[in-house]
Order: sequence, then C-alpha cells, then structure tokens
Amino acid sequence: MKKIAVLTSGGDAPGMNAAVRAVVRTAIYNGMEVYGVYQGYKGMVEGNIKKLEVGDVGNIINRGGTFLSSARLPEFANPEIRKGAIENLKKLGIEGLVVIGGDGSYRGAMALSNEMDIKTIGVPGTIDNDICGTDFTIGFDTALNTIIDAIDKVRDTASSHDRTFIIEVMGRNAGDLALMAGIAGGSESIIIPEKEESLDEVMSRVRRAEERGKKHSIIILAEGVMSAQELAKIMKEQYNEDVKYTILGHIQRGGAPSAMDRVLASRLGNYAVQLLISGNSGRAVGIQNNRLVSTKFEDVFEDTHSVDLTMYEVSKQLSI
Ligand code: ADP
Repeated sequence: MKKIAVLTSGGDAPGMNAAVRAVVRTAIYNGMEVYGVYQGYKGMVEGNIKKLEVGDVGNIINRGGTFLSSARLPEFANPEIRKGAIENLKKLGIEGLVVIGGDGSYRGAMALSNEMDIKTIGVPGTIDNDICGTDFTIGFDTALNTIIDAIDKVRDTASSHDRTFIIEVMGRNAGDLALMAGIAGGSESIIIPEKEESLDEVMSRVRRAEERGKKHSIIILAEGVMSAQELAKIMKEQYNEDVKYTILGHIQRGGAPSAMDRVLASRLGNYAVQLLISGNSGRAVGIQNNRLVSTKFEDVFEDTHSVDLTMYEVSKQLSI
C-alpha cells in the first residue's frame, strides 16, 4: 500500500487531531503518502483532499476539535453519491482510508469498503463513548474532565445557597458520561437511560442529604433520559422541590484533549495504519482491557452498547 487518506466525520471530539497526527506520521514513517480529506464525507464527494506532510500535523496534538473539519452529509447513504467520492479517491491513487468518527461514520466506511477496492478502517472518535468494540472512545475522557470541572463549580454555588441542582450532560442515548461524572463529581443521584430510577428515590436521597445537614444536592442527568428543564418541572409539580438546573451543552465537546485521550488517539491512529499495511479492511479499532483490538464493522453494529452497571451500584452505595 502506497497511498492512504484520513478523514474526521460526525460530531467532533477532543483527541481527533491527535488521531489524525498518528495516522499521518505512521503512514509517512512506513514510506507511504497520506492525504487529508477535509469536512468528512462532504469533502470526499467534493474532492476537498490535500496531501499532508509531517509538519502539517505539527502543533495539533494539544488542540481540541479537528483541523480537518467535520461535516454531516446524510446523502452519503446514497450509493450514487458515494460513487463520485470513490472516484475522487481513485484519481489520486488512494488505496486505504482511515475514518475517525462515530457509528454513523462507520456505516459510511463500511459501505465504502464493500463497494470499492479501497480498504477502510474506523477509529472511534466521540465524547459519548457509545461505540461497541472498544472500552473507551477518543474524547470521552476529556469531556468527562470538563464535566467534573463544571460540577465542582456548580457545587460551590449550590452549597452557598443550600440548593439542589440538576446538571444535564451529553451522551446521546448512552449514560457513560453521566455515570462516571456522577461518581467522580460526588453527586447524590445519577439518572441514565440504561437504568430505571424512580423519582421518589431521587427525592428521598435529596431529603436524606438535607436531613443530615448537607447543604446541597447534585443530580446528574443524561440527556438521553429527558431534559433538565423537564425534570425540574416534574420535581416542582410532584414534590414541590425548587431545583435549579444547568445544561452543559457544547462546552463538553471542546477543549484541549486530556493526556489519556492523546495517548489513546495516538495508539489507535497508529494501529489503524498498521492494520491497513497488513491488508485489513472493514474493521474498527478499539481498546479492550488496555489492549488494542479490531472488530468487523458488522459486529460493531450488531452489538448493543451497554454501561457498566456495577458502577451504578457503587454510586448508590457512596451517595447514602
Ligand atoms: P457519528 O459518526 O458521530 O455517529 P453521524 O451519525 O452524523 O455521526 O454520521 C456521520 C456521517 O456519516 C453522516 O453525516 C453521513 O455522511 C455518514 N453516514 C451516516 N450513516 C450512514 C449510512 N447508513 N450510510 C452511509 N453513510 C452514512
């Protein structure tokens, strides 16, 4: 294999740059040429593709976002649209493609690997940690740290005013961010899609905390369950409890990647290129028990993402 390309797609995540850097440098180290496709599949269709050199990925390991830009192009599900994109890669003699993104991006990559002689490898980049075949996705650790920082700040004001706060965190349909942020932030309750939680139970925790003199309570709510606004309304209507709420929103996606994300992205980016060199295609890389693994795209889609509910039990025991 002499020429490969790399793109970032879907929602951006801190550490995507470190992954691109790893792909580019591993490829060049192994004597290959490497091209950056800008704006994900949109750039592939539009031919927004440029050759990258070692220096082009200098000074980005520490930056959030993705210097290749990301975009959403729902039309990429259409084989006719993909045909043009494939032509654009073939014109440049590109034989392999690394796609850094989430589930949707993998679907595009799988379609490409089934349709052309361009080999594709997926790298999990999303703060949501909702991709099967890996224990952690690139960006998750950084987002978690951003959330903890926010919880600590909310806690200062919550305890100064004896308040109960709901903090809504991202994660789409996955509760990973909420669960781990709830434990690390010392919250009273964690509400995630994967575990039914009665509001009576949430309220009794808040009340118990009040009774033992605790000045504040923090409830971490995963966006996949309901909005913080809705929950605050229910708590007022059903329990006459006045709660404040904070929606962290897109700050969770930004910021300099954590050391863990930089290392993970570097390892996964490097491994993705190694897999291409050894002739693999249609697979996603990941980390399981601190070992690099790869999984066929079909198996990634067939599996259902789950959170580790033993952590949920830990959080219950620690927030008595
Ligand atoms: P993520 O990769 O973070 O899950 P999206 O779901 O938005 O983000 O997917 C990113 C892009 O991947 C989409 O904008 C589209 O271009 C492409 N894509 C998503 N689903 C498919 C599909 N079924 N077939 C082909 N391409 C897809």
